[in-house]
Amino acid sequence: MKIVLLGPPGSGKGTQAHIICEKYSLPHISTGDIFRANISQGTELGKRAKEYMDQGSLVPDDLTISIVVDRLKQPDCEKGFVFDGFPRNLNQAKKLDKMVALDKAIMIHLDDEEIINRLSKRRMCKKCGNPTHLDWLVDGKCEKCGGEVYQRDDDAEATIKARLEKQKLPQDVIDFYKQKGIYEQITSTDTKEETFKLLDEILKKI
Ligand code: ADP
Ligand code: ZN
Repeated sequence: MKIVLLGPPGSGKGTQAHIICEKYSLPHISTGDIFRANISQGTELGKRAKEYMDQGSLVPDDLTISIVVDRLKQPDCEKGFVFDGFPRNLNQAKKLDKMVALDKAIMIHLDDEEIINRLSKRRMCKKCGNPTHLDWLVDGKCEKCGGEVYQRDDDAEATIKARLEKQKLPQDVIDFYKQKGIYEQITSTDTKEETFKLLDEILKKI
């Protein structure tokens, strides 16, 4: 199963990617997670990526594509994978297309108003990486593993607005996948379980 999840920040791509990967035992490839891991390890790549991420901009394609090329060489990707946060523009989509044959590109749609509401309440688990939400925490801790949670730097309200303006997924990416006949769209629901059900209807047919 080789799929990409498309959609605005806050649409639940990361959460759904975690659920799909657990259920189908697939590697979860999140370019955002790879950048954040590099930032916390203080690598050169992390330093370069952080400048863009803090402004709510996209990291340049040369950096982003090179981490994806490296990741796809790992043996765990042979049986399939779920991309989350990649591709974000047509150049990235075309480069990915040269490397692998995707089964589906699935858009998780969410209205702008709801995006801001969700992102300002988003928290991340320090221990298991689960993207969670203020309302889901149990005693202020990750509902999955009990780990401490934190707010991402780029989930500050001003950065959220910048990300929405600068990072709208270009229509040409959608058209590219429509032309290939692998594009699907669902609308994010209020619960992650319901949203997963919608996605799973598509995944079961692969
Ligand atoms: P979100 O989907 O919530 O915006 P991500 O974790 O996917 O968050 O990405 C965080 C940041 O990392 C983005 O705002 C962007 O700066 C950078 N980034 C992640 N993936 C890409 C990509 N494919 N191309 C360029 N920049 C990226
Ligand atoms: Zn956790």
